[in-house]
Amino acid sequence: MASKGFRHLIHKSAILFTLLGGTAHCFAYSDDTHYTASFAIALAFGFGWEQSLLIASANQAVDTNVFTKPTIHTGLGRGATSNEVRQFEKCGASLGLSLQDYYFHCFSPVADKRGERSSVVEEHLKSLEANANELIDNSNSQKSAEATTRALVAIGIYLHCQQDSWSHSSYGDHAVGHIADDIIGQSPDELPRYPTISRKALAETIDKLERFREKFGLKRPTPTKEELGQLVNALIDEPAGHNKTIPVPDRKICNQKATEYWVARLIKAYPELYDQSVPADTYEYTITPVVYETVYELQKGPPQPRVVAESYLINWPCQELFAKAFPEIRAKRRPDTQSFHNITRTIDWADPVHLSFVKLPPEKLPLFKVQLSVNPVFNDKSDYER
Ligand SMILES: [Zn+2]
Repeated sequence: MASKGFRHLIHKSAILFTLLGGTAHCFAYSDDTHYTASFAIALAFGFGWEQSLLIASANQAVDTNVFTKPTIHTGLGRGATSNEVRQFEKCGASLGLSLQDYYFHCFSPVADKRGERSSVVEEHLKSLEANANELIDNSNSQKSAEATTRALVAIGIYLHCQQDSWSHSSYGDHAVGHIADDIIGQSPDELPRYPTISRKALAETIDKLERFREKFGLKRPTPTKEELGQLVNALIDEPAGHNKTIPVPDRKICNQKATEYWVARLIKAYPELYDQSVPADTYEYTITPVVYETVYELQKGPPQPRVVAESYLINWPCQELFAKAFPEIRAKRRPDTQSFHNITRTIDWADPVHLSFVKLPPEKLPLFKVQLSVNPVFNDKSDYER
């Protein structure tokens, strides 16, 4: 029979195992930010199709490459209780964030507040941004494909930390990052969770991509603030007049569709952005309002109406979201009631609505070649531990 202490340890190990099993997308804004939105915004600022793909893929790859992906396993975190620390020390393990979490996912190594970045994170972001700018300068002077690739990858790596710095604020100096919130379905990595913070993240992504574009010397049209704002609204807002949020898996598809619709509209408004070398993979979709068919059944009372066609973009709340974010869809909306005998039903659109989309390319995740240059730890006489 296991002793009480040992049973306790088994219990703790089970928790650790569960945590490790659930971390695939736990430590970063979901791919609707790192990949989808970053691709669309880069494209909007005149980066070519392949260049935007590389920026967005490098951003996403930070979560998948072995030397950059988030870790939660080793090291002692201060958020753990002393009892937990003791238990894990007994079996030679402990919970905590690692250097990768601080370096690539912008967790703060010191306590911080939600929506406010610590000065340590700010400083670190400046160095990642400076690195990207230096590589853009190299690309401009060398004009080689290799130098350009390096610069675009550095932009993606910077954007990853920049975006995470907002969703990961308030989890600084915490032993398990935001795992505890993920488990109770409150992950900060979902864009609609903390809309004000997510808006800061995307506004900064827009601002920085515009600066990087200028440094690259790309002279292309600039989408209006209003157009960019519509993408941001579509990705973050909750549907109007609807108390329920869209379930997370549906929301991901809905955000993907919203971005694909936005890109199609962007290319229509700014044909210069259309990359002739990459034929756009477009598709159409029609939202069909409710269509009734009257069913006659012998000897069973009056004829009964039956819904025969009703199509949504993913689901009804997603369609609501499209109407909220995009004025031209809202304008087409004409709520109507249709009555059949004693049954009346209110529908969203009285006429079919046709929408065009440009399919986003699949991620092309680069394998990072990590170059470690370890600076020796140095102190001068004024540095002492707190
Ligand atoms: Zn991350």
